Amino acid sequence: MPFTFGEYVLYRGKSLYTINECQIIDSFQELIGDLETLTYSSYLNELIDIATVNEESNRELFKLLVSTYYLLRHKVIDTEILIRAFELGLLKNTGYGLILDKCVKCGKSINKSNYIDLNSYGFCCSDCKAHLSANISYSTYNIIKYINNLPFDKLSRLSLTKENKGEVYDVLSKLVGQSYSRRPKSLDMFNYLIKEE
Ligand SMILES: [Zn+2]
Repeated sequence: MPFTFGEYVLYRGKSLYTINECQIIDSFQELIGDLETLTYSSYLNELIDIATVNEESNRELFKLLVSTYYLLRHKVIDTEILIRAFELGLLKNTGYGLILDKCVKCGKSINKSNYIDLNSYGFCCSDCKAHLSANISYSTYNIIKYINNLPFDKLSRLSLTKENKGEVYDVLSKLVGQSYSRRPKSLDMFNYLIKEE
């Protein structure tokens, strides 16, 4: 079962592991109950798969995944905001944390920005808007900073316009897409269906 949280005893064979014992803590079966939560949960699993190395533990990332499952199930936070927060947490916990409080080019302190340098994983001041950096709105910078710094349980306070969500999605999907072994595909069909609505 794809989203089952539990304690497992594994037996290591020549090339594969087999499960000898399993104690289920939470099966998260509600996540397969509708297309939206099923798609987003599958996306989380795919991200973990492409962003981690086999047999290397990452406790923070594990906690992030399980908390996101819980919040996704209870639908207390706007799903898109929750998924963006997960992506930011994933980047942070796999060595690609965003630089938000200083310009990635000159190091000057910033508290607002119109430019992101995707290659440097951070934002630029107005003096350093290099030709490589992409233009973003001030609100996108603010939202990313807010989500990045806020504990997950406080995210329910946040509400975003469709335009804001679109821009933040655009930035984070580029960053996630360029950072790992391959670009995730779980949301492609879903995004297509939403656009068609
Ligand atoms: Zn600068």
